[in-house]
Amino acid sequence: MSKIKVAELFYSLQGEGQYIGTPSIFLRVFGCNFQCQGFSMPRGELSQERLNIDPKKYERYEDLPLVHTGCDSYASWDSRFKHLSPMLSVEEIVDRIQQLLPDGKFSEDKHLILTGGEPLLGWQRVYPALFDEIRLRKMNLCQVTFETNGTQDLDINLVESIADHDIDVTFSVSSKLPSSGESWDDAIKPEVIKKYYSAGQLTYFKWVVSNEDDYNDIVRAVDEYRKVLGYRMDYIPIYLMPAGGTTMHYDNNERWVADLAMKNGWRYTPRLQVQLWKNAWGT
Ligand code: SF4
Repeated sequence: MSKIKVAELFYSLQGEGQYIGTPSIFLRVFGCNFQCQGFSMPRGELSQERLNIDPKKYERYEDLPLVHTGCDSYASWDSRFKHLSPMLSVEEIVDRIQQLLPDGKFSEDKHLILTGGEPLLGWQRVYPALFDEIRLRKMNLCQVTFETNGTQDLDINLVESIADHDIDVTFSVSSKLPSSGESWDDAIKPEVIKKYYSAGQLTYFKWVVSNEDDYNDIVRAVDEYRKVLGYRMDYIPIYLMPAGGTTMHYDNNERWVADLAMKNGWRYTPRLQVQLWKNAWGT
């Protein structure tokens, strides 16, 4: 039986990027190849905030504390929290999706988002079975987005499944900059992005910017991607987003990031999950 370890499964609005505001099922799978302990820390320092949270006190994602430094979806990959993420068969996952969707079906305006953690680790071998089950139930899946850190090559079976199903696939890539605490060589993988570009209908980059260092790193990353992707980079939208898991930090950043986006001819995207739901779990 095909199973996936599911961190969260919920219905919400896409909060960022190309499909902002679109009603979507979010399937957050467990596991990540990074830890991103550098977010919102002084350059070179790593956050220990999540390590002060006692996993034994929590039985539901909704009750977990939000962190202000390091990865904000820590429970979707930190093994100390793995008891919160059940292994579900694709049939059980699709049952739940049917219950969550207002009329039990997807549409051009109701998308499926595979997120994490990193959704393109080993679970990508199970997605063809997931797509098959959704098709079997005639749920009209038209649009799938992978929210990825852009480091994982695609499994051939997933590539064939994408081609076989009549689904538009988007790769929303947030490659990790040095501010994440991860190394440049581990995070910036132009050859991988080239494969996403070939396999999907749309690939775009989406970066959180909190200071000049981030901006300079984005310019460098775009340069490296262009060396391998060439003309394709002209067809890959680039979105900048203001940093901040809290509205105060977020509001302070907004205008500056919008100006940076305009200056470079890149796109700006707000982050609805911060504005509408204060970045809570399940949004
Ligand atoms: S890649 Fe994403 S999910 Fe993984 S640790 Fe970094 S921010 Fe968190």
